[in-house]
Amino acid sequence: MLSKWLWRFATERDSWWRKLIDIKYHNPSSVWQTEKVRRGFSQSVWANITKEHELFWKFASIDPGNGTMISFWHDVWNQGMVLSSAFPRVAAAVVDSEARLSDVASLNGELVSWSFNLKYNLRGGAERERVELLNFLNNIPMNNNALSPCRIVWNPDPNSKFSVSSLYRMLVQETLPGVIDFPSKQIWKKLIPSKVCFFMWLVYHNKLITVDSLKKRGWSMANRCCLCCKNEENINHLLVECEFVKEVWRIINRGRLVLSYQDREVKLIIKHSPHSKPGNVGDWFTYCILHAVWWFVWLERNQRVFEEKKSTAIGVARRAARNAMEWLVSHGHIDKTQGLTWLQESLLIG
Ligand SMILES: [Zn+2]
Repeated sequence: MLSKWLWRFATERDSWWRKLIDIKYHNPSSVWQTEKVRRGFSQSVWANITKEHELFWKFASIDPGNGTMISFWHDVWNQGMVLSSAFPRVAAAVVDSEARLSDVASLNGELVSWSFNLKYNLRGGAERERVELLNFLNNIPMNNNALSPCRIVWNPDPNSKFSVSSLYRMLVQETLPGVIDFPSKQIWKKLIPSKVCFFMWLVYHNKLITVDSLKKRGWSMANRCCLCCKNEENINHLLVECEFVKEVWRIINRGRLVLSYQDREVKLIIKHSPHSKPGNVGDWFTYCILHAVWWFVWLERNQRVFEEKKSTAIGVARRAARNAMEWLVSHGHIDKTQGLTWLQESLLIG
């Protein structure tokens, strides 16, 4: 199978054939793959092989090891995310945008500390973004192999080695375990603010600080959902089962827009949410409304817990719908008047 050659390219650093291919199709931003070969006058063998890139990297990943071969801001080295696009304001403020992972991270005993070396002090939204980035980095499971070199890992195989049979197994299987099935396209969407995508990442990994998670850490407190005041609070209740969030969806769906999530579990809902870029206003709206609704339900919950302020389900639905529309407008996918008219007509919540 052609994928085998991609594996051999990434692993057989000293072989003569790899050096030849690297000279011909050198990729300046990655040592793990060549650049994609465009079809020339003659059909080259390597062009055929690089057609398998996408499939191959779906199952392969880079274990950063000591981090010397990973670009901290530009390589996909964790959870399918490029940090420079998820945290653009911090990335714009760093002295060295080409820093390696090993330049940014340092290991103090068991703890990893991060230093970004900024050109200026961050304020307001940019400072919040820096805190979110730190929060994200501290949640990444770092394996204790900080002294080992970077290496490529074949996720379907327990020994991390590529084999044609394991690839075949993955292709015929519907559900894929662990990292492979992390739905990065559904979570990291460029037009949605990074803090909201980060929030979805926490939701997916069950890392939001809810009352049940505090209790698991030994805090003693009553557990009652502050939105419905009936059931216990946990992520699935807050975002799916709670009467309050159901009411928010009913308001949003009152018009011609109908989003029906068959799944009952946050992970499955995220996995099955729309991720390909659509055509018309309604489709664009569907593309980002899940992020918006959950984010504003979470903000409402925090407002009730920390500030003792309450808003209604209509208020939350409006905020979510307007913000989803503003994200689309600010990225130029939709014209402002067109967006607002559509919102008023279809959602009846002007
Ligand atoms: Zn509730």
